[in-house]
Amino acid sequence: MEWETVIGLEVHVQLATKSKIFSGASTAFGAEPNSQACAVDLGLPGILPVVNEQAVAMAVQFGLAVHADIPEVSVFDRKNYFYPDLPKGYQTSQMYHPIVGPGSIDVTLDDHSTRKIRIHHAHLEEDAGKSLHEDFHGMTGIDLNRAGTPLLEIVSEPDMRSAKEAAAYLKAIHSIVTYLGISDGNMAEGSMRCDVNVSVRPKGQESFGTRAEVKNVNSFRFVERAIAFEVERQIELIEDGGKVVQETRLYDPERDETRSMRTKEEANDYRYFPCPDLLPVVLDQAYVDHLREQLPELPADKRERFQNALGLSAYDAHVLSASRAMADYFEEVKDVCGDAKQAANWVQGELSGALNRENLSIEQSPINARQLGELLARVIDDTINGKAAKQVFQALWNNQGASADEIIEAKGLKQVTDSGAIEAMIDQVIADSPAQVAQYCDAEPDKRGKMIGYFVGQVMKASRGTANPQQVNTLLKEKLDAKL
Ligand code: ADP
Ligand code: MG
Repeated sequence: MEWETVIGLEVHVQLATKSKIFSGASTAFGAEPNSQACAVDLGLPGILPVVNEQAVAMAVQFGLAVHADIPEVSVFDRKNYFYPDLPKGYQTSQMYHPIVGPGSIDVTLDDHSTRKIRIHHAHLEEDAGKSLHEDFHGMTGIDLNRAGTPLLEIVSEPDMRSAKEAAAYLKAIHSIVTYLGISDGNMAEGSMRCDVNVSVRPKGQESFGTRAEVKNVNSFRFVERAIAFEVERQIELIEDGGKVVQETRLYDPERDETRSMRTKEEANDYRYFPCPDLLPVVLDQAYVDHLREQLPELPADKRERFQNALGLSAYDAHVLSASRAMADYFEEVKDVCGDAKQAANWVQGELSGALNRENLSIEQSPINARQLGELLARVIDDTINGKAAKQVFQALWNNQGASADEIIEAKGLKQVTDSGAIEAMIDQVIADSPAQVAQYCDAEPDKRGKMIGYFVGQVMKASRGTANPQQVNTLLKEKLDAKL
């Protein structure tokens, strides 16, 4: 039997507001426990929450970026449950009238094809505190600094059909929220977390199978691993005559497996009702239009422009637009050197390779975009050849000079294009290599092209890499063929 996987994601994005969604307490990460929770976050008697306008604006901007409907009215509801890190006894969320209505995202897959994933809605809510188990023996510590941090929960339709698609969707969300600057997207610090709903069905069957929900997965890789595990578990279960039960599960990265947390039978009845302390949020068209005007160029538009206006391949355009930092770096290199293709090749090749080797992000690059652009300009105007360019790159990386020109000068890397000088070097190499010259002359004509490589290497060496390789090639061929 062939099976098909069905996946829907609920992504929680921490919004990058300075203060909390209903109070003035700071949202900064990493402070002393319980130093950033005020009376409102604790739900003390007599408090009144006030909506942070910045959180509303950020949610609307996300909605506009995913082509969603923005309803005129949205309403905050109380979701009632008890948990030690939720001192109010309810989470303020949006159930029936979310701030962002249906939308969609075009997701690019590994083979560069795109798929449209529909978004059911996105709603605003507050985060809970944190329970700390490690530092306490037989007790749990509660840190309420995170309580009241604004979250945007983005709920997809069950439109994904593989772990790869789910990861690509999550990356697309990450890319959009960081482009918009509405979240730092830092998954390691929990700024983006995701609940993964997974089910399987026989291929061709219309109705969905029963799903399991894997809670709080916090990396792209874990999303893929958790789905892979779930798919195998569910198929095995069904093929052995069992039934998938609707339940909440937990992914354990150490054992690379998911485990049951609670089944739907024990699930809470949250008794949602509109929060009496908060007015409905009413957005007029002018306000929404104003936010729309402030949207930056988004990943999909940038990708399209890189392809259509700059002539990059679909692959290059995708890689270079994936993060805003990468896109900005690439564009500056391109503007400085004036050649989009060269800029794309170097940013993805030499630069990304060096960054990966040293585990650095593009923001931490020891070579800035202006320096790389100036280096490429010297390749384009033939001041240096490709080989020397790599030496200059390395020297810039190691901080051995402030600019490409300075290094070219200091290291004497200027390309030799004077054909007299190149001919002299060629004559010397030919005179020094009688055996190789004889071999060349004896070889079949179609083998000679390959054999010329030896001579090119010798001449380049004699010039310390500065001779113009095309000139060396042409002149060598002339001189060797004259000996036939
Ligand atoms: P709930 O209200 O219980 O959270 P929802 O209908 O809101 O359930 O769905 C939550 C998430 O689960 C959504 O992202 C949705 O796409 C996904 N989902 C729903 N049904 C399935 C299914 N059968 N298989 C996989 N994902 C599903
Ligand atoms: Mg849900």
